[in-house]
Amino acid sequence: MERENAWKKYDEKALSELEALSCRYRNFLDLGKTERECADYAVELAKKNGYISLDEAIKAGKKLEPGTKLWASPMGKTIMLFVLGREPMENGINIVGAHIDSPRMDLKQNPLYEDTDLVYLDTHYYGGIKKYQWVTLPLALHGVVVKKDGTKINVVIGEDDADPVLCISDLLIHLSAEQMQKKASEVIGGEDLNLIIGGRPLKDTEEKESVKANILGILKEKYGFEEEDFLSAEIEIVPAGRARDMGLDRSMILGYGHDDRVCAFAEMEAIFAIDEVPARTLCCLFADKEEIGSVGATGMQAKYFENAFAELMALTGDYCDLKLRRGLANSKMLSCDVSAGYDPNFASAFEKKNAAFLGRGVCFNKYTGSRGKGGSNDANAEYMAEVRKIMDDAGVSFQTAELGRVDLGGGGTIAYICALYCMNVIDSGVAVLSMHAPWEIISKADLYEAMKGYKAFLLNA
Ligand code: MN
Ligand code: MN
Repeated sequence: MERENAWKKYDEKALSELEALSCRYRNFLDLGKTERECADYAVELAKKNGYISLDEAIKAGKKLEPGTKLWASPMGKTIMLFVLGREPMENGINIVGAHIDSPRMDLKQNPLYEDTDLVYLDTHYYGGIKKYQWVTLPLALHGVVVKKDGTKINVVIGEDDADPVLCISDLLIHLSAEQMQKKASEVIGGEDLNLIIGGRPLKDTEEKESVKANILGILKEKYGFEEEDFLSAEIEIVPAGRARDMGLDRSMILGYGHDDRVCAFAEMEAIFAIDEVPARTLCCLFADKEEIGSVGATGMQAKYFENAFAELMALTGDYCDLKLRRGLANSKMLSCDVSAGYDPNFASAFEKKNAAFLGRGVCFNKYTGSRGKGGSNDANAEYMAEVRKIMDDAGVSFQTAELGRVDLGGGGTIAYICALYCMNVIDSGVAVLSMHAPWEIISKADLYEAMKGYKAFLLNA
């Protein structure tokens, strides 16, 4: 059954909403190229939208009333936004959850070296990337350096028009006879991802590595840190530049990190758009570390969501362990993550009846996983039926898909982790072309439908 392209139904009002949303989204991408930046910006927006700090509410210890809006940002790399409903949380809450980490390269702890009058930063890639895609394009440094005294220095180099950018070189085609015979996974190896950051030696110096000495001087003078401070830094190397409208018809957006900030943004816009006091409590969640298995203290497998749930129960005067367990099991969730968009250039990677198409609306994946659905959260038919009804009743364009042809590959999301509480969870997101490439492609229509779909879910599930 073929779904209609969402663009065909839009009137002038819908188009102007869609454009305004897309404009805010491009800004969200530009200001949030790392999980920390993205979380900081979301907190800023939450405060503007009347959200109060959960940590402060816990300290104050006063009973919270329905309609209260709260934010929490564990370790500054995750986000939880809550709108308290009229019903007790024991009945369950409605959750939309995405992740805000994206594939990239991280600096190693001892990254800096000089080789033959060039200075480099050595990197370790993060998440699943085709390494050959990350050479010969302008790159930027984003992150933090934390000094021994606890001072935190924010670093963003390569985004301002006046900034220099950085780059990883590739071998010239003229000398690539051997390289061109290699498998794509070996054309550029993990240890080849070395970022060039300098090439000018200091004058009049005895220093052996005078290009490096010059760079160290710049780091100290301009950014206030020294070589040893790289030991306690988290600096990410991402494509330099802004998200852009794409296509002569401006129907798409080319940007870094659509996976999964497009879903995160759609969720956040959806919860901000809700004015009434909802029946059930609502939650918009941004997790970290999805791209490396949802591990660590900020990954979805950590307990911050469960802890916040318990804290909110306590602050509404209704906490006990049994009620917490019931509340989690009675909750409903959309695990919002991007889906593989059907690509006519690579048609054989898809099964066309069960593929997500750009422009045909928010996508639901009953299951993801690989081979025989390995590693998948296979949502219940009963739940899929409920979600279908919510989308249809709200006039949201949606489609269903698998992640590509059976036996070709696969992938996972945070869905299976939240399903461990016995709550209903289904994957839902926006179709992306060139997923995990430095620049990914989405359709504005799918962003718009996702936002409307998530809002309908929050209010009606
Ligand atoms: Mn993802
Ligand atoms: Mn991904």
